[in-house]
Amino acid sequence: MNHDVLEKNLLRPATRSALDELTHVPGAQPRAPRGPLRTDQDVRIAIVHDWLVTYAGAEKVLEQMIACFPDADLFSLVDFLDDRSFLRGKPVTTSFIQKLPRARSKYRAYLPLMPLAIEQLDVSAYDVVISSSHAVAKGILTGPDQVHISYVHSPIRYAWDLQHQYLQQSKLTHGPKSVLARLILHYIRNWDIRTANSVDSFISNSAFIARRIKKVYQRDAQVIFPPVDVDAFSLCTQKEDFYLTASRMVPYKKIDLIVEAFARMPTRKLVVIGDGPEMAKIRAKAGPNVEILGYQPFEVLKDHMSRAKAFVFAAEEDFGISVVEAQACGTPVIAFGKGGALETVRDLSGPQPTGMFFDRQDAEAIVAAVERFDELAQRFVPADCRANAEQFSAERFRERLFAHVRAAVPALRGVTLPPYVQYVPNPPGLEHSEREGQHELPADLPRILAVDQSGVLGGAELSLLEIVKALRSRVEVVLFDDGPFRSELAKTGVAVNVLDAGVLKNIRKQGGSLPKGQALKGLLALVRATAQRARAADVIYANTQRAMVIGAVAGKLVRRPVVWHLRDIVSAEHFGGKQLAIIKWCARLGLKHVIANSAASAQAFAQLTQFDSKRIDVVFNGISAEPFDALRAVPQATLRERLKLPRDAFLVGSFSRLARWKGQHVLLEAMVLNPQMHAVLVGAALFGEDQYEVELHAFVAAHGLGERVHFLGFQHDIPACMCAVDAVVHTSITPEPFGRVIVEGMLARRPVVAARAGGVLEIIDDHENGILCTPGDAHALADTLAELRSNDELREKLVENGYRSALSRFGTQSYVDGVARILKDVART
Ligand code: UDP
Repeated sequence: MNHDVLEKNLLRPATRSALDELTHVPGAQPRAPRGPLRTDQDVRIAIVHDWLVTYAGAEKVLEQMIACFPDADLFSLVDFLDDRSFLRGKPVTTSFIQKLPRARSKYRAYLPLMPLAIEQLDVSAYDVVISSSHAVAKGILTGPDQVHISYVHSPIRYAWDLQHQYLQQSKLTHGPKSVLARLILHYIRNWDIRTANSVDSFISNSAFIARRIKKVYQRDAQVIFPPVDVDAFSLCTQKEDFYLTASRMVPYKKIDLIVEAFARMPTRKLVVIGDGPEMAKIRAKAGPNVEILGYQPFEVLKDHMSRAKAFVFAAEEDFGISVVEAQACGTPVIAFGKGGALETVRDLSGPQPTGMFFDRQDAEAIVAAVERFDELAQRFVPADCRANAEQFSAERFRERLFAHVRAAVPALRGVTLPPYVQYVPNPPGLEHSEREGQHELPADLPRILAVDQSGVLGGAELSLLEIVKALRSRVEVVLFDDGPFRSELAKTGVAVNVLDAGVLKNIRKQGGSLPKGQALKGLLALVRATAQRARAADVIYANTQRAMVIGAVAGKLVRRPVVWHLRDIVSAEHFGGKQLAIIKWCARLGLKHVIANSAASAQAFAQLTQFDSKRIDVVFNGISAEPFDALRAVPQATLRERLKLPRDAFLVGSFSRLARWKGQHVLLEAMVLNPQMHAVLVGAALFGEDQYEVELHAFVAAHGLGERVHFLGFQHDIPACMCAVDAVVHTSITPEPFGRVIVEGMLARRPVVAARAGGVLEIIDDHENGILCTPGDAHALADTLAELRSNDELREKLVENGYRSALSRFGTQSYVDGVARILKDVART
């Protein structure tokens, strides 16, 4: 069965917010601590959710359910969440699907097993079961003494009225696979109806879904609208002369119709925010009065929503969160009058209207509605829009849900809704849940003090971030410098302390005399502060060289073992003599164990220090494929447009910080030799190599490369940048310890050309999953790129093999597991 289409179109929770889809910033939600809220002291409650893989509309409902019943236990078919803060630290009991092969990426393919799997979750010990269901959660087995309340986001769509659409989109209209798919859906339909009988009370997220429930299960449902984070928006009464539409650009959103309508109204301005597979089609229809901004961060979207004269919405949604979000800004809505919008927008037929409807999904109807809106614009009062949106707040949701459950469970009568409290993650060391992040972790994980010298986002920091995300309730982080790394860490909910260490900034990697006077005082203060934090930990986990030196001394002071995650090749090519001597000294006196990011790093270290090889382990970095896979459907042209890169050129990308040893100049020299190619340099001079950056620019000017070389500076969205290019190059002129960018290039499904030295040799098998070039040899690089450009077959082979090896050898699970196990072993001995 083609589950990709199913995945994209039909298994989407009913209440996904257009805003979330655009911004990918789900975290801006209130959080609450595991507090002593014992409203349900004597009543044991289980909450069952379909699958935990993301934080979208259905999960926002779940989050508020947990806030209503903080002592409830959670069940789900699978749990592969990255950010699980909205679960308030709760463990999740999962089904056997969790452990099936490739369940993390392909759990949806196990659809035929899902009814069986949900029935195997044992909730017999609970008095009340609340299911949050858009697929199978409502089929959980309950007995006559239990109350089962089901919040239905939608009856399982692709089995019911959307079956034919699903089969068409999945290209399953005929043939043996089609027969099989139809049989499975038939079985699921029967199962779905049968299990409706054991639900005591249904809740639906809209009258629209209540009608579906009635049609399919012949049962009534109480409507409780899903929670919308209206507090993230504020009333703005000053409107400007433009209309706005914003959503993912997928066909059913009908953005093309809105753009077409505005092309017929050249005096009215439309702003379009969002991105997706329909972008090219939409752009083609846009006139000069239509401004297409592409994907925008949350703040930009919010700002446009606040200032727009009206929000235009042409999709038929079960609910339509963005429609409520626009009203929360005091912005009226012009919407297609079908589905959820009918319930969230008050039209001109009643008092205090907040918008109006058009009754056909076509450009003509939209034109007529916008013209009418303009005539009657003064009838829409921003404050009314805001007041209407507040009906859909999370607070109202909690009140209604709690009241519904209380009414259905006699033992809860008299119990009041617990106050809503901000969620603050547990301080490390107080509590341990066995499962963190998406990983199954070893039990009894020690308390870890992670130490890093940097505040910027270099490869070492990005690699540490992955560990922190997975182990965060057991980790506290100490940084010796402030910067974007701290904000990224803070987003994971981990405790971060920045111990200001101006002194370290002055000690450069190369050379540099040993600190004296003030600098020495500063260093000692740093050691003391680190030691103090280490008292609360079982193990010090140093992620960079200077962090290791400070950590080693601090570890001695408070008798804590120190593990160095070695991400450097400790040779004279990268370090000064004094630094190498200090590393040797620390290895002898202060280091318990070393985790090396490649055999090349391990070997250089062993050679330098004669460290016991039993105390060195190689653990390759793990890089998540998800952000790369998510871009598969986005056309390269869209990405290039977003980044302002030439549409048709053969584009070669470098994605390393600007530093001489990273060898960006080699790429520029190769560009001189290959006049038909363009290069894009992504990255900034992170560690004070500004002079090198100046030299690169001067080289470009001197060789007239200005038109063909594009400097993008530091970028956060590396997957998008990589998918925008035709080939990824790595040009380090001294041995690279690991080279994350190489694995990332493979995950982006781009052919990778890398410098033949160091850890790179452990990633690339020449001409199999990438190509190796002599470091510093611009001619060889130019020739290789020319060959790649002309040889489609070679490119395809490298891409296929590269992607496969990145997935199989550099996944995050084995990376996190490897590090966690070593830290645990070291802390125990
Ligand atoms: N990177 C980034 N933004 C940029 C340039 C690079 O986030 O503008 C990332 C890149 O994607 C990679 C990391 O920085 O994940 C660099 O890691 P690598 O191992 O290649 O080199 P290091 O910085 O550790 O020497």
